[in-house]
Amino acid sequence: MVIAGILPYNFVRFKTVVYQSSSYYRSVQLAEDFYCYIWQGRGNNCNSCLFANVLRGEQPHVVIDPGHITNELREACFDYFVKAMDGDGFKVDDIGLIINTHSHPDHCQANEAIVEKSQALVTLSEEEDEFRNTLGEKLYSMLGVKVPQFEPLFYLKEGNLDLGTKDKVALQVFHTPGHSPGSVCLYWPDSKILITGDVVFYGSIGRTDFPTGSISSLKRSIDRLSQLDVECLVPGHSTEFGSIVKGKPNVKRNFQAVKLYL
Ligand SMILES: [Zn+2]
Repeated sequence: MVIAGILPYNFVRFKTVVYQSSSYYRSVQLAEDFYCYIWQGRGNNCNSCLFANVLRGEQPHVVIDPGHITNELREACFDYFVKAMDGDGFKVDDIGLIINTHSHPDHCQANEAIVEKSQALVTLSEEEDEFRNTLGEKLYSMLGVKVPQFEPLFYLKEGNLDLGTKDKVALQVFHTPGHSPGSVCLYWPDSKILITGDVVFYGSIGRTDFPTGSISSLKRSIDRLSQLDVECLVPGHSTEFGSIVKGKPNVKRNFQAVKLYL
């Protein structure tokens, strides 16, 4: 199963490389305490992000979209994610909060694996949680995938979301439906970083052919995002064009290009 971008990218490409566990994720540090883990396996999985050492207390890390536990090609995505984080000196046991951009299993199946290890708190939008527990559950079971299991502690609302207190990371949550009904994007004005989940990718947009998908909603969402001052766009999946869109002119061009799909 692929829950990712639009159709031209929805096929699995077999590469002729021998995979080491370190080949499955490419770690990219974009700010002092902000890391992206770019999925490079053969099957489907999302890219993940980590805000390191931002929360007070013994579990200071925040993960965004931890991805699959195991994907359709039986790649051990979560094990590789743990190893990739470990390579940067971060432990899963120290994750205090998981933020999900939306409820598709390739973004939040690993919530339960993290919660089991660290009792991390989980959050997503209320609209998305309702979808997960109704139509989403039916959709995932039709696709042969178990509905992701977790209990959110609170719901993400449009507006400010501060992580930590001293040296806080001040994020802004944008409700961006279209790919799924309660998708959110996270904007970090201080670093001009925009985390887009499956709303917009490098040269592509999120698919809208699942139940409750809406191309007109997606267009409105992307129009809103394109107004933001962004230096670095971090999508939920990579495409043949790339993963992270860096540089304000490139981000601007990317928005212009993807609007041609809408
Ligand atoms: Zn998705």
